[in-house]
Amino acid sequence: MICGGIDLGGTKIEARLFSGPQTETIDLRRIPTPRGSYDELLAGLEEQIAWLEERAGISGLPVGIAAPGVIDPDSGKMFTANLPASGHSIRHSLNARLGRDFPVVNDCMAFALSEARGGAGQGSNSVMGLILGTGVGGGYCVDGAFPHRHGGLAIEIGHVALPASAVARHDLPLWRCGCGRTGCMETAVSGTGLSNIAQHVLGERLSGQDLVERGAEQVFDIWADITGECLLTIQLMLDPDCIVLGGGLSNLPDVVARLEHGLARHALANTRTPKLVRARHGDSSGTRGAALLAKGK
Ligand SMILES: [Zn+2]
Repeated sequence: MICGGIDLGGTKIEARLFSGPQTETIDLRRIPTPRGSYDELLAGLEEQIAWLEERAGISGLPVGIAAPGVIDPDSGKMFTANLPASGHSIRHSLNARLGRDFPVVNDCMAFALSEARGGAGQGSNSVMGLILGTGVGGGYCVDGAFPHRHGGLAIEIGHVALPASAVARHDLPLWRCGCGRTGCMETAVSGTGLSNIAQHVLGERLSGQDLVERGAEQVFDIWADITGECLLTIQLMLDPDCIVLGGGLSNLPDVVARLEHGLARHALANTRTPKLVRARHGDSSGTRGAALLAKGK
């Protein structure tokens, strides 16, 4: 069945049309995100919905929207740093303007749903999606659906405090996080975090790619050790069958083996650790998850 997904980002709105048994992308279109006002943002979304319907040749095409930030499950109101949408419900606004329903979901939750349904987490009952990009995002699915959440927080693992033992073991400073707190996991585990570690250990702020080219094993070892403890935190809180890795750092060479090793080093005795895998649907996974949500079971 054909369906559409929209990734509402801070710089672009990407629409993808999906089809086939695996819900694969058959066409896509990107426009810059209008950021002047909420009305302009809605007009950008409407433009992309109209393109999807025209391209599919179906009016009333199921279309889901993945967006960053916190989305209250009851009111639909959003809290987001990079879009002029805080305090608004995009779902309600689009319903009022277009007369039908467009589900709006946090992009990390959409990623988890996509990987649970026809992705790398297929066959696992509970799937944690862990996005290791500029920041760290998390999403969680059980039996291919979202558990109810009180306030619409996804699994905000990036802003859980770093394990004190890991900070002490590697003699790391406590870095300030973009959320305003100090010592969040994101400050050591994300792409930004990897560069923080490089700055601390090598005295140079290097990207993941630079570090790969230099063979900076010491930096990767510290990163994998700390990230392994963060994976243990996920296991202790959620005990998922499978953790699917996405985002730029999931493309690092040997990332799964490094993190399996990092997790095994800290795992509790006589427990089974979750399976770690790379995402199957790559950069399109969040959009695909939103489309699956619109399409239904
Ligand atoms: Zn934080």
